[in-house]
Amino acid sequence: MSNSNESINPNRRSFLGKAGAAVATTLVAPGVVLHASARTRDPDEPVTDAVRWGMLIDTSKCADGCNDCVQACEKENGLDMVTMPEGADPENWDRQRPRWIRQIQLQDNLTGQITSLPMMCQHCEEPPCADVCPTGASFRRADGIVMVDRHICIGCRYCMMACPYKARSFIHEEIEVKPTHAPRGKGCVESCNFCVHRLDRGETTTACQDACRHQAIAFGDLKDKNSAVSKALDSVKSRQLRADLQLNTGVRYSGV
Ligand code: SF4
Ligand code: SF4
Repeated sequence: MSNSNESINPNRRSFLGKAGAAVATTLVAPGVVLHASARTRDPDEPVTDAVRWGMLIDTSKCADGCNDCVQACEKENGLDMVTMPEGADPENWDRQRPRWIRQIQLQDNLTGQITSLPMMCQHCEEPPCADVCPTGASFRRADGIVMVDRHICIGCRYCMMACPYKARSFIHEEIEVKPTHAPRGKGCVESCNFCVHRLDRGETTTACQDACRHQAIAFGDLKDKNSAVSKALDSVKSRQLRADLQLNTGVRYSGV
């Protein structure tokens, strides 16, 4: 981990915490305030960069042993619909089964501080997963969401090796039951997509955020200074994990 509130190359959309708030507001033309669209997007309407979706997780609010965000994600996206195949080794199954978000403990090598935090795809602005994908299945939408196109994923798993956050999972088993909004299939890679099905139908919250009883997760449009996530970023010191990689992640953490 490394220090945050770092400013980014002006050609890249900056995502700043308290120290960078003044700079963040200058990224929008004077007098123009960009708001997250809270309306259903027509499937034929292109996604634009008018918004950049982002998240701030305040680890100081995360309660010991709490797993609510993980369970909510699995329920929302149908990961909990898949049961262990008959005869499988429970340990192997648990280790290999797909997870879009997980609770981890992170140690800062400089200070020794250990923090428990939820880890998911960090929605990098410069995603290494997309860089290495030979088919273009890993891609970043204009609104900042990094996703996998299951139709062209060939299961090579290069993206899993390239991701510095180990945020991606591979589906090893046939999947019989899945929600229509989150089609999943054997042989594909998957990861957190900021609950894109919700956003595309005009909602502005994620399942993990809604499930958090401790209000540890703020989500919204980073380009809108009035959004919950922008206000949260203005009010606390935050950082991106592995800031040294300069990926300008869409997920930031405070209390780390
Ligand atoms: Fe890709 Fe990993 Fe970055 Fe997510 S966290 S965008 S999977 S490199
Ligand atoms: Fe899961 Fe949605 Fe939270 Fe991502 S934003 S971790 S997909 S619940």
